Amino acid sequence: MRLYGDPVLRRKAKPLQANDLLTVPGFEPQTVRQVADTMLETMFEAHGVGLAAPQIGLPVRMFVAVEYEDDEEENEGQEKPLKSRVLRDFVMLNPVLKVIDKKKDRSYQEGCLSIPGIYEEGVPRARAVQVSYTDLDGVSRVIEADDFLARVFQHEADHLDGVLFLDRLPAEVTEDYRKELLAIQQKSRTFLNDLAAHERQRKAGL
Ligand SMILES: [Zn+2]
Repeated sequence: MRLYGDPVLRRKAKPLQANDLLTVPGFEPQTVRQVADTMLETMFEAHGVGLAAPQIGLPVRMFVAVEYEDDEEENEGQEKPLKSRVLRDFVMLNPVLKVIDKKKDRSYQEGCLSIPGIYEEGVPRARAVQVSYTDLDGVSRVIEADDFLARVFQHEADHLDGVLFLDRLPAEVTEDYRKELLAIQQKSRTFLNDLAAHERQRKAGL
C-alpha cells in the first residue's frame, strides 16, 4: 500500500484500456483483470470500501469499490467475514463522474488506506453522482449512486487526480495531524527505499 507522502499519490493518473498489460513496481507485467483482483483482495484485507490504482503504485485511471450489506462502513470485530457481506463490487476503468445532486453531504466519517489511522467527518461530497466507466470486458457502462456509495466513488475518483481527502478539509486539520502524517511519510520513504533496492536486485538478476 502506497502511503501519504508517496509522489505516485499526487500524480494525475493516465487512461488505460481493458486489454492493457500493467506493471506494478516490484512485480512482473499483469493483465488489468489480474491487477483488479489483487486490488479487490487488498481492499478486503484492509477492511476498505475502495482502492484506487495509484494506491498500489500504478498511476492509471482505475479503482475498485464495494458495497456491503447492513452497515456500509467497515465493522471491526464483525463475526461474519467481511467478504460474505458484499452486496456488489465494482471495478471501474477511466471513470468520469457527473454530479446529479449538488447538495453537499458532510455527515460520514472519511478515511483512506493510504493515510492509516486518520478519520475525519466533514469532507463535503455531492449527495448523488453518475459514473460513466469501462468495465473489465471493455464495455462502457453508466451507474448512479447516492449517499455513502457516491462518497466512495468521489473519494476514489479524486485519487486518480492526485487529490486526497485531507485536501478537501480546512488546512488546520492537516496541521492537527502533523505528527501522525510525518510518521506516515517516514514509513512511505522507508518503503520506497526498500522497493528501489529490490528493483535494483531484480534487474541485476539476483
Ligand atoms: Zn483513499
